[in-house]
Amino acid sequence: MAVKERKFVKADSGKEVKNPAVTPRTKQERREKATGKRIAAVVFWLLALACEVALILTLNKTLYFEKGMLYWQLGFIIVDAILVIIGAQFWKRANDVDPASEENKVKFFLWNQMGLIAAAICLAPLVILLISNKDLDKKTKNILVPVAAAALVIAGLFSWDWNPMSEEEMTETINEYSTETVYYTRWGRSYHLDPNCQALLNSSVVFEGNIQEALDAGRNDPCDFCVPQH
Ligand SMILES: [Zn+2]
Repeated sequence: MAVKERKFVKADSGKEVKNPAVTPRTKQERREKATGKRIAAVVFWLLALACEVALILTLNKTLYFEKGMLYWQLGFIIVDAILVIIGAQFWKRANDVDPASEENKVKFFLWNQMGLIAAAICLAPLVILLISNKDLDKKTKNILVPVAAAALVIAGLFSWDWNPMSEEEMTETINEYSTETVYYTRWGRSYHLDPNCQALLNSSVVFEGNIQEALDAGRNDPCDFCVPQH
């Protein structure tokens, strides 16, 4: 459904009201905005890796806890997964403001799914080591293996970027809607051009801004109802 073309004019002067046009940020501006988030992502992933190492050290008996060994091991796995997921959220937010170019498809995929790669590095070896470990008693193994496997799957799902935007797509979108007012919600992934769009009617809070603000917030999916489809 296309939005009806309407012109808004100031009541006193009759002059057309237009939002100041948004110009796409330069590569350097985008990079600067993303750097802090990227560093945070890497720090969280390194901490997750430390948890993984700690668990491996308990398995090969380098690290020993006289009490509650199982709880320490469970703790290492769960904290590992949580840190992986937090890191991935920072990584995704960094890519919202500084998306990768899709010129190289492989690089584009790997860059966007770095969170998934981190999840695999920080959790998959644990699953393999736990399954193949011959020293663990059956009861401990029956608890740790499913927990580690579940942690891997959950961390993978939360780390996957379901809707990555490319640098090219971002520039095109900003240029196309540079003077438009766009709308988005607290939970939705879409941006809207029509404030009365049917997809917005059930949201108690609707954010209004320019296209840059919507993309910064990670709202990079054009609404199926009110944004013309290409
Ligand atoms: Zn819409």
